[in-house]
Amino acid sequence: MKIYEKAPAKINLLLDVLRKREDGFHEVEMIMTMVDLADRLEMEELPRDSIMISSQAGYIPLDEKNLAFQAAKLIKDRYDVHKGVYIHLDKKIPVAAGLAGGSSDAAATLRGLNRLWGLGISEAELCELGAELGSDVPFCVTGGTAIATGRGEKLERIHNPPQCWVVLAKPPINVSTADVYGKFRVNELKQHPSKANMVNAISRGSFTDICNNLGNVLETVTLQLYPEVRQLKESMERLGADGVLMSGSGPTVFGLVSKEAKVSRIYNGLRGYCKEVYVVRMLT
Ligand code: ATP
Repeated sequence: MKIYEKAPAKINLLLDVLRKREDGFHEVEMIMTMVDLADRLEMEELPRDSIMISSQAGYIPLDEKNLAFQAAKLIKDRYDVHKGVYIHLDKKIPVAAGLAGGSSDAAATLRGLNRLWGLGISEAELCELGAELGSDVPFCVTGGTAIATGRGEKLERIHNPPQCWVVLAKPPINVSTADVYGKFRVNELKQHPSKANMVNAISRGSFTDICNNLGNVLETVTLQLYPEVRQLKESMERLGADGVLMSGSGPTVFGLVSKEAKVSRIYNGLRGYCKEVYVVRMLT
């Protein structure tokens, strides 16, 4: 039997860091949602007890460093499954882009193997397993729109934002999340984005107020390190996107756009100098 799972990319409408914890992690407050740019996973049982990963993307690890491999191993160990699986990753989400591609693959693997092997694991338990793999994995298990706190693993579901276009652009640089957090100094922050305002804007379905309350404190690090990310933000704003923000630790920048007529102008304007530009819808 073969099964398929979609692994969508996430964007942060808001990313705030409250403090650095004693355990070295940062206490965050994020509002995350999914967009319709997704990897596709194909999973098939193997006749022997092993995990095999393949992908058309030549630039990701296919061994135990792959998050889908780690997810499969975790579920096998924890639920004592002596079966093997072959997982093919059709990668569409750019890698190391701030879009949680690896985390979403891990989450899709957990959901998929739960189905393939009929394990009957609840969504809450899948989230707990996911938290062992990475802070963004629990959100990727549930999808939708959520406020994430703690390291990002504590989730509170909220309404989806109103439907709109999302233009994503990734400059040709890879940004390490660990590196950005390492250089981030919470005490030097002059301003925090308002979670209350964003939650309020979403619950009222106000597209304008969502655009006006976008905020990501990690921009203070990434925009300084990589001026091309700042330029990309400025270009998107100039081309008429209604709201523009860097996703996660970057370098992907996204623009929210309400009117279809504007989308092709922004796409064409960016494609002039940025190879990786995607136009997708919010997943609502
Ligand atoms: P986040 O927003 O959660 O920080 P990201 O989008 O910045 O994630 P990923 O695309 O998840 O970053 O990739 C980060 C690293 O993880 C890469 O260096 C990549 O080699 C490794 N990796 C492991 N498994 C995968 C996978 N299934 N897909 C993509 N990258 C993976």
